Amino acid sequence: MTNWKCNKCGHLIQATTPPDVCPSCKEKCEFVDVSCYIPECGGPGSGNINPQVFVTSGEKDKK
Ligand SMILES: [Zn+2]
Repeated sequence: MTNWKCNKCGHLIQATTPPDVCPSCKEKCEFVDVSCYIPECGGPGSGNINPQVFVTSGEKDKK
């Protein structure tokens, strides 16, 4: 399973592939893979989220 984050509203989804439409904002959003692949955040395979990816993506479009 991969952790996906909606770049628009920040909604988190666990799935193998991101959905076409975000269940939270009901729009075709860009989903960012925020899964952790490094030991620092727990490593892959157990639904861990990489906090660095989580912060750097999505926040930049906020106004
Ligand atoms: Zn969304």
